Amino acid sequence: MKTRIGLLYGGKSAEHKVSMQTALAVMKALDFENYEVYPIYITEEGDWTKGPQLSAPAENIKQLEFADGSNLPSPSFSPALFQADGKEESRTLDVIFPLLHGPNGEDGTVQGLLELLNLPYVGNGVLASSAGMDKIIMKNIFAQAGLPQVDYIAALRSEWEKDCDKVYALVEERLGYPCFVKPANLGSSVGISKASSKQELEVAFKEAFLFDRKIIVEQGVVAREIEIGVLGNDEPECSVAGEIVPKKDFYDYKAKYEDGDTAMIIPAELTEQQYAEVKEMAITAFKALDCSGLVRADFFLTKDGQFLINEVNTMPGFTPFSMFPLLWKHTGVTYPQLIEKLVNLGIERHAEKQ
Ligand code: ATP
Ligand code: MG
Ligand code: MG
Ligand code: MG
Repeated sequence: MKTRIGLLYGGKSAEHKVSMQTALAVMKALDFENYEVYPIYITEEGDWTKGPQLSAPAENIKQLEFADGSNLPSPSFSPALFQADGKEESRTLDVIFPLLHGPNGEDGTVQGLLELLNLPYVGNGVLASSAGMDKIIMKNIFAQAGLPQVDYIAALRSEWEKDCDKVYALVEERLGYPCFVKPANLGSSVGISKASSKQELEVAFKEAFLFDRKIIVEQGVVAREIEIGVLGNDEPECSVAGEIVPKKDFYDYKAKYEDGDTAMIIPAELTEQQYAEVKEMAITAFKALDCSGLVRADFFLTKDGQFLINEVNTMPGFTPFSMFPLLWKHTGVTYPQLIEKLVNLGIERHAEKQ
């Protein structure tokens, strides 16, 4: 019998567009001999819509959203969205693949919903997703696990509105310039700026607070950027390492998704010892956050040869041209194989919980 898989994509998030690209790519790579595929699209406003069962990959995801009457946006979420078509009574989908990035998708909210519905799903659970989405909580956990990282401070919008000079003074005293100002809960570099002066710091704070009530400010480092893929549940495995070489000042949103002129070097040029070290750190991070399924762990490698963990992404960019799938391709796992592995890992984790 075919596995009935629900692809959840779009989402009420600044990373909506990225998710659309991912969903189309996954749809094209899925083996329709083995899977019955149900697209479930979440609009940017947060409305949930279910498409009809697909018998072949969609060519254009936009057409798919509103293809027929059964497919109009529902004003809200309903568990019926997870029913498969067909005559059998209450045929729920076998597994949900949340192809969502950022808040309201990668952050444990959707995962919590799926837990309540007792539905197996791909990727990280509630705790890892939410802890991984919040850069401050994540870094606090990494610190507790003994992972080296840059110095950072957190700031709330309310305290900044009350006395911004106090917050800026703390940044200058503790971190200095350059520093990176980031919304605590986001990804794809949205809302992130590098600040090299007080003036730039003020602009950076304003920008980051457009996206979140909480921000993180980090010491800027001059370093190589090394990323590694982790796959598995209780016994996670690492891919080869990759290196990002941004042509611009840093790896911002445009460099990631628009200009496409960032070089990815896979495998990264590392000594055996360095590779072993970064693998161990990635596994430590995976376990510290109680991850499952997958993460992409991002590191800085400083000039004096020290690895600092930057972050993990619990639902990393997932088109065939994104770092995570490319890392696995070079490790010997093709894109369709990767999708299948992830689906099986999600089903296994669900079975283990029972
Ligand atoms: P994604 O989830 O897409 O990987 P993100 O939004 O979570 O991105 P980060 O990975 O934290 O953001 O940062 C984006 C980029 O900004 C990094 O890849 C790096 O180029 C640069 N950067 C971030 N923090 C620092 C830092 N402390 N020092 C130097 N460069 C940094
Ligand atoms: Mg990230
Ligand atoms: Mg991300
Ligand atoms: Mg990153």
